[in-house]
Amino acid sequence: MSAEEKVIVFDTTLRDGEQAAGTRLGVREKLELAIQLARLGVDVIEAGFPISSPQDFEAVELIAKQVTGPTICGLSRVVNADIDAAGKALKKAKKARIHTGLGISDIHIASKFKDEKYGKTLEAKKAKALDMGVKAVKRAKQYTDDVEFYCEDSGRADKEYLYKVVEAVIDAGATTVNIPDTTGYAIPQQFGQLIADILKKVPNAKKAVISVHCHDDLGMSVANTLAGVSNGARQVECTINGVGERAGNASLEETVMAIKTRKDFFGLDTKINAKELYKTSRMVSEMLGIFVPPNKSIVGANAFAHSSGIHVDGFLKNPLTYEIIRPQDVGSPKSAVVITARTGRHGLKHKLTELGYKVSQAELEQIYQRFLDVADKKTEVFDEDIAALVGDERRTIEQVYELQYLHVACGTGTLPTASVKMKINGKDTPVTAAACGDGPVDAAYEAIKVATGQSPKLDLYSIKAVTGGKEALGEAIVKVIDKKGVRFTGRGVSTDIIEASAKAYVDAINRMVAQGIGDRV
Ligand code: MN
Repeated sequence: MSAEEKVIVFDTTLRDGEQAAGTRLGVREKLELAIQLARLGVDVIEAGFPISSPQDFEAVELIAKQVTGPTICGLSRVVNADIDAAGKALKKAKKARIHTGLGISDIHIASKFKDEKYGKTLEAKKAKALDMGVKAVKRAKQYTDDVEFYCEDSGRADKEYLYKVVEAVIDAGATTVNIPDTTGYAIPQQFGQLIADILKKVPNAKKAVISVHCHDDLGMSVANTLAGVSNGARQVECTINGVGERAGNASLEETVMAIKTRKDFFGLDTKINAKELYKTSRMVSEMLGIFVPPNKSIVGANAFAHSSGIHVDGFLKNPLTYEIIRPQDVGSPKSAVVITARTGRHGLKHKLTELGYKVSQAELEQIYQRFLDVADKKTEVFDEDIAALVGDERRTIEQVYELQYLHVACGTGTLPTASVKMKINGKDTPVTAAACGDGPVDAAYEAIKVATGQSPKLDLYSIKAVTGGKEALGEAIVKVIDKKGVRFTGRGVSTDIIEASAKAYVDAINRMVAQGIGDRV
């Protein structure tokens, strides 16, 4: 660790992150994720909200028992039963933290404490809320010294009242005070000022760590978090991939990498082992079933992909021209040059070299012109398309086999059966065949094998959605190996995934019989 002052990284993927609509993690999954978060080097893991459900209690308890390194934290309201449940769940933790608090903006207090037992006027209700906060901190202190207090909806709170609450809870023993912008309402300059003001106006503010917890409703969660840090906050509350309630929380990977990459500006550091970021991101995405958009900062599939000619040319001369972070520093696969119509000659030549082709300048020019024709018709040009461009006569694949008709019958308790009609060598009379298989795709492939008399070994089969929604296009990629051990790739696209799969297989067979464009295994 360098001499820079440290920012504490508080991960709430397992608590706020799991509050994302439509997600639920099992106890074992939470444990697995907590182990990975410890490997990533977060300082605090907010493992759950123990009173909220027996499962959450169990998860917090299990993580507290088994995960060492980070402080394990449990959330509670200012209710006694909540605090007791958190204290109990955290009993076995080497380092335990209770995170308690309540809404402190006027709108939260007026709406949540409507009952007259909390006071008749807003002022009386606010005094009562403050008292409840202080009592909660004192109760939490009976379980652990490490108590964090959240002033929910600070972003919209009456500032004078917020100062009073912060002062009182620190006096009561809170060691961290969380200033959440619960509704994602804040603007960076304003939120940064709020943190600066708290540190200036609250007499005992420096006795505690000021934490920021920002939401992304206006797309400013990371900017607000960093503004908080610039103004003296020393704990950031984040989630992996920015998952969380509504539009989500500040993303951990973006916050941490901004602090690291712009050390010149912040003069700060974290304990995060950035090389674990990509892996952690994948794990969260898979477990929660929330995909990471390709253009997502740091961990998106395209975060280190270069496509435009000017960029590719510069990147190949020196990656620093267009990359501020090296992909290996965040554990991401290496930078990629994605070949599109705008890639340019330099990028194309780089790709050809990667594929093992040595071409002269004159050849490159010829290939480049043909490449533009193909690239204009496709969003992304695959390696095998480029391989096909290399030899003029090999450029177009002769369609020896053409799938004219496909029918598949399958379902629970049914033997998957497929029948196909294929046009061969352009002849008028199609060949028909039928076969059974382990599943609908297998049945279709068996029928195609019978109809074509070709039976290459299937090496790889994958299918993915090209677009979103229920009418999404499915894209199937199939790799087959011929008798000589040469591999051919076929591709098929359709709204019907069985048809896409069949088309991909026929495409691969066509490439195989056309010969010369496969890659050696
Ligand atoms: Mn939150």
